[in-house]
Amino acid sequence: MIKLKQISKSFGRHQVLNHIDLTVAKGEVVVILGPSGSGKTTLLRCVNYLEKPSGGEIAIGDFKLDCRHARKKDIHQLRQRTAMVFQQYNLFRHKTALENVMEGLLIVKKLPKEEARKKSIALLEKVGLGAKLDAYPSQLSGGQQQRVGIARALALEPEVILFDEPTSALDPELVGEVLAVIRKIAKEGITMIVVTHEMGFARDVANHVVFMDGGVIVEEGTPTEVFNHPREERTKQFLKRIT
Ligand code: ATP
Repeated sequence: MIKLKQISKSFGRHQVLNHIDLTVAKGEVVVILGPSGSGKTTLLRCVNYLEKPSGGEIAIGDFKLDCRHARKKDIHQLRQRTAMVFQQYNLFRHKTALENVMEGLLIVKKLPKEEARKKSIALLEKVGLGAKLDAYPSQLSGGQQQRVGIARALALEPEVILFDEPTSALDPELVGEVLAVIRKIAKEGITMIVVTHEMGFARDVANHVVFMDGGVIVEEGTPTEVFNHPREERTKQFLKRIT
């Protein structure tokens, strides 16, 4: 279980997150929706301390971190429990697909090379890239690069995978293959928080949908509740604009 309590974040005087509470059960897929600038990405980045929250508490499983008093050691522990899939893939350009996936296993998990290699090959096969092990990112399409990014996140066996708009940098014809991989791993019961503008995906795959605006959670519920019976005017307006 992941529990965010009263998470706030300001950039200078601009308060971007305003006391956010969010609970994600084990195995649940939570999709965060909201207009541009509402704080979705910032919230996701706070969960693994790519942004330091100004206040609040983050609990993942039995690990708890008070953001006002977090030490290096705590942040390291938090990061061990999370993995992130970025909009721009963030692969090492000079490493092959296989080496990109192996990297975390060697450096973070400290696995022996042969074990890391076997595990990485299995994960790349799982995301449909068994034939591209030795390809460099520049030799892969955006969709393939993002699937390497997903294999790399899976390799770390985190308690939660954070997806930050994983398909928004892709050409439209490549979006489907990446969403299909995310769907497949969601079915395996991996806990996920996904920031996306893909409404069809959110409807199909999410167990829980969160609508953010202006740094607060305006409304949350099942996909049916949020998409078919939104209660709040801001949610209704947002859904009208994008569907
Ligand atoms: P989008 O859908 O466009 O990605 P978002 O909901 O993910 O938007 P954020 O990227 O979290 O929104 O940004 C929320 C607000 O915080 C925006 O006003 C943005 O300009 C501001 N912001 C984000 N990162 C920084 C930063 N590093 N420094 C200053 N302001 C920032």
